[in-house]
Amino acid sequence: MLSPVAVIERKRDGHTLSKEEIEFLISGYAKDEVTDYQMSAWAMAVFIRGMTPPEIACLTKAMIATGDVLRPIGDTPRVDKHSTGGLGDKVSLILGPLLACAGVHVPMISGRGLGITGGTLDKLEAIPGYRTDLSEAEIESQLKSIGCVITGASSKIVPADKKLYALRDVTATVPSIPLITASILSKKAAESLNGLILDVKFGSGAFMQSESDARALAESLVRTGNELKISTSALLTDMTQPLGRSIGNGNEVIESIETLQGEGPNDVRELTIELSARVLHQVGAASSIEVARSSLVGLLDSGAAFERFEQMVAAQRGNLKNLPSLAKAFDFCASNSGIVQSMNGQKIGHAVIALGGGRKFVGQAIDPTVGLEMQVRVGDRIEQGAPLVKVFASESSDRDAALKWLHDAFQIGDSQPASVPLFQTL
Ligand code: URA
Repeated sequence: MLSPVAVIERKRDGHTLSKEEIEFLISGYAKDEVTDYQMSAWAMAVFIRGMTPPEIACLTKAMIATGDVLRPIGDTPRVDKHSTGGLGDKVSLILGPLLACAGVHVPMISGRGLGITGGTLDKLEAIPGYRTDLSEAEIESQLKSIGCVITGASSKIVPADKKLYALRDVTATVPSIPLITASILSKKAAESLNGLILDVKFGSGAFMQSESDARALAESLVRTGNELKISTSALLTDMTQPLGRSIGNGNEVIESIETLQGEGPNDVRELTIELSARVLHQVGAASSIEVARSSLVGLLDSGAAFERFEQMVAAQRGNLKNLPSLAKAFDFCASNSGIVQSMNGQKIGHAVIALGGGRKFVGQAIDPTVGLEMQVRVGDRIEQGAPLVKVFASESSDRDAALKWLHDAFQIGDSQPASVPLFQTL
């Protein structure tokens, strides 16, 4: 006879759990039959003992089974991208409409900012009126008419993850590769995908700071995604400095629009094209990654991707003509001359939070008008007094705190730092 305590004891003692034991615990938790304190003990046992690949796959499937799965529509391939999150990462806003233009469906269920990293929903909500609470029927109808949706998860999508994630957040069990894998992939599998590309970031502005941790997470995600019959691959991408120039919410929407119109910063454009090309090839919607890349370039440069973005925003009741004006800006300047050695992403992220562009507590309102515009990249030579960052601050921003974080974030020196590639394959 299974009991929560017996399952926790077996994990605590380093045993491999069976499918039945995992299903018992997860379905019981979703039905409130397993308590939060028992689940906390189990999560800590998993955090310390780890899980085998078959256990991770069972856990992911058990979590999917606690909620609804979106209905597939006809034969059109369904694809999505998941990023582990980083500073200035606005790729989802561009990639969804771009891939829809390339003929696939993108039912993107996104999240809000976590820690120092921004969230796709928070960015899109900088567009007045934009709805992030579409029902499953609305998602289906918009996929049929426009091909892409970017919305939040309803309470019916993987309810076990909603509960478990909140518990992990307060029990020091977030950075566990098995738990992260099941959390991310259960939500993606609930979209009924054929193809998934993972953007696993490493560096000071990322959740996984070291390249080796990011690689281990990427390997677990790819193995489990393929086990779920979703064609899954991953890129390891650079977060030793922010992606693009803008970090914030309103300003990231503007930079996304520029990229959708064939302009925008090179790194944002290049990464979006690479992730999109790979997932198109994975589901057979392009004969090669090279062919996919060149057609995606055309879709950005012709304005087709921007037109699709406009349609998606209008369908979700957003008003692009009424974007909020950015707050008044001032420059944060270099205190000495030299070469930019590094930018600490955690500190830059805290500067954005101090301005009001991120949250200090759950549910805090975000100010879409504040943020940063980076004026330099790692490796740039700068003179004393040259602007490093343009700071958009409102009346209620904590400017002193933001400036202190920025001051601590930059390292200026004499040597040329080693360059980090924008992306690497596994
Ligand atoms: N994002 C998720 O959705 N889940 C995790 O566990 C970590 C990041």
